[in-house]
Amino acid sequence: MSETGSVDGMITVEQVTEALGSVNDPELHEDLVSLGMIRNVTVDGGAVGVTVVLTTPGCPLKAQIESEVKDAIESLSPGDLTVDVNMTAEVIKNPRRQAGDQSGSVTLQDLLPQVKNVVAVASGKGGVGKSTVATNLAIALAQQGASTGLLDADIYGPSIPTMMGLHDEPDVTGTSEEDQIIIPLERYGVKMISIGFLLDETQAVIWRGPMVMKMLVQFMSGVGWGDLDYLVIDLPPGTGDVQLTITQSVPLAGGVIVTTPQLVALADVRRAVTMFRKVGVPILGVIENMSHFLCPHCDGRTDVFSHGGGRDEAKQEGVEFLGEIPLDPSVVLGGDQGVPVVVGDPESPLAQGFRSIAGNMAASLSVSNAAQAKMPEESGEDLSLPVVG
Ligand code: ADP
Repeated sequence: MSETGSVDGMITVEQVTEALGSVNDPELHEDLVSLGMIRNVTVDGGAVGVTVVLTTPGCPLKAQIESEVKDAIESLSPGDLTVDVNMTAEVIKNPRRQAGDQSGSVTLQDLLPQVKNVVAVASGKGGVGKSTVATNLAIALAQQGASTGLLDADIYGPSIPTMMGLHDEPDVTGTSEEDQIIIPLERYGVKMISIGFLLDETQAVIWRGPMVMKMLVQFMSGVGWGDLDYLVIDLPPGTGDVQLTITQSVPLAGGVIVTTPQLVALADVRRAVTMFRKVGVPILGVIENMSHFLCPHCDGRTDVFSHGGGRDEAKQEGVEFLGEIPLDPSVVLGGDQGVPVVVGDPESPLAQGFRSIAGNMAASLSVSNAAQAKMPEESGEDLSLPVVG
């Protein structure tokens, strides 16, 4: 038996597993073995194989975790081992959704049972790029390998159809009203539904809160979303009653807030933070859009609206800053032509920015879900649906 407890100097599966017990997930602050992220450890002579299951496919710390796993195994017998690390991912379901219905009445958990995480994208006011961000984030998540849907709840100004370049009417299955299911449209790997697919764009403008809610419940319970890792909801801009009711009536795993860096926009961030906190929805972070302008001719940078306010405001509110997107005319062009920048120019710094933000958001969600899973069952929390119609 060697010093490491192996027979004939060969290392064992147990030793590999023990070594991996010293590698922590940098965000969840627990070791990979305890977190259940290590699977299929194999040892064949000097060849070691291991599968690491991350909590999101676009994990920004993937490379770091992979290298730490490799180092930990190699340190068992330096220079003698070949290590094959297979990195994969399984998105965690939001723990609040696991509880199931105990009362017999319709609860939020019953809605969208096949969706692991519902994430709302909010902004304090219109025009800051909320829909642009929601669209590019959803596609970036899909590109990273997550099954993703996009629900356009911006009833009064549905821009997803234009941004996704889709104006078809979705198919409906079933014959009677009770068994009708709307089949979401799909483009760029993202399933989506929008009021814009069903109504003339001007028709919903006069709708009041209850009608909006009725439509949204229909979008959740009457749409065949199938299994999804993430359903991104593009909320109507603002933080008024309609937005508050929506955030209360959708089984949200988290919310993100889009802002521009001007001082006036930052006051809106505070309102959006308050809105999510009021209804107990974890805030996954703040995104600063139109952060600065990079001149395409000289690469010079101009801070059009005094850059950095989003980061400062996030810090002040004690929430994550997920990243910034520059002001860039190609965003407008991509949006107008129905080819979002993560599809139209995937290697551009702009697209990389959206992918990085998507990874950060998903990581923030994993951390939030892990924290919620550790919390004792919330008692007395009202997750029942509000009266609609
Ligand atoms: P909101 O949903 O907040 O109302 P939109 O996403 O509809 O905002 O964006 C408003 C306008 O701003 C659109 O024409 C969009 O193309 C443009 N836009 C959004 N983000 C950027 C950006 N980073 N650079 C340049 N234009 C942008």
